[in-house]
Amino acid sequence: MGEVIKGKPVADKITKNLINEVESIKSKGVNPKLAIVRVGANSADLAYERGALKRSEKVGIDAEVFELPENISQDDFIKELHKLNKDDSIDGILVFRPLPKHLDESVIKYEIAPEKDVDCFNPVNEGKLYEGDKSGFPPCTPLAVMEILKHYDIDIKGKDATIIGASNVVGKPAALLLLNECATPTICHIDTKDTAKSARQGDIVVVGVGVPKLVKENFIKDGAVVIDVGINVDEDGNMCGDVDFDNVKDKASKITPVPRGVGSVTTSILAKHVVKACKLQKNL
Ligand code: NAD
Repeated sequence: MGEVIKGKPVADKITKNLINEVESIKSKGVNPKLAIVRVGANSADLAYERGALKRSEKVGIDAEVFELPENISQDDFIKELHKLNKDDSIDGILVFRPLPKHLDESVIKYEIAPEKDVDCFNPVNEGKLYEGDKSGFPPCTPLAVMEILKHYDIDIKGKDATIIGASNVVGKPAALLLLNECATPTICHIDTKDTAKSARQGDIVVVGVGVPKLVKENFIKDGAVVIDVGINVDEDGNMCGDVDFDNVKDKASKITPVPRGVGSVTTSILAKHVVKACKLQKNL
């Protein structure tokens, strides 16, 4: 069986470094702070929010939730965002997405200040990711994937990486981050002719599709590294990934579990981004 590579040691290392960094920032009289903007009370958002609040507390940064009514108008939502943009006590803003249908994300995404946009909502940060400009904020989840690869000393340079899933929050940014580290990425999506065949080329396979246990052993070449971003609930009501872990584990050289894999690292990246945003805005 391949090595099961868990998220916790990665998150712990990032958290430990952040605790020291935050102490040093606080000694200069500055308190880094995250604002979480949530519309309504979706259960997945609430679960992530609990994790983000716990992580913030652990690293010593402040976090405040701004819960907005489900029927908030677009104008009022933008006004709330502008207030947070202008508030000097707030360094980072996380907006839970997708927003309700009546709020037009294609308009709203331009209204979050890029320097506070800690989860890559504003196209300015998408552009920085595209350029490999390290002053931006790539989305936390694909960055968690990169941190896991680095933590477990997985070679990226020159490797073939297949990314299954092409969303703006997982697949596309994961492909760009891997490309920026000199991998050769292939992106598969719902219309890809033969995803299993493309996946079998991958030395590294990153999966984020939202289909429980889609990836079986015929998608994976012997010795590949498999990173599962998926968070789903299986037929028995248990959390599972987009990879059929039991079916794939013997072919992979390393594989992340679900739960306790990528998801455990994401909030530590979020906290890291708040600290980075604070330092950039306050010239620390
Ligand atoms: P999405 O629905 O926005 O995108 C899914 C992508 O997968 C699309 O590009 C689609 O074309 C592709 N796809 C769907 N079915 C496919 C198939 N059969 N073969 C090949 N490609 C297929 O989803 P998303 O927001 O990117 O989320 C993907 C998964 O990652 C979900 O399980 C989600 O819960 C999870 N997720 C986890 C975290 C985390 O922190 N671990 C964060 C965000 C999303």
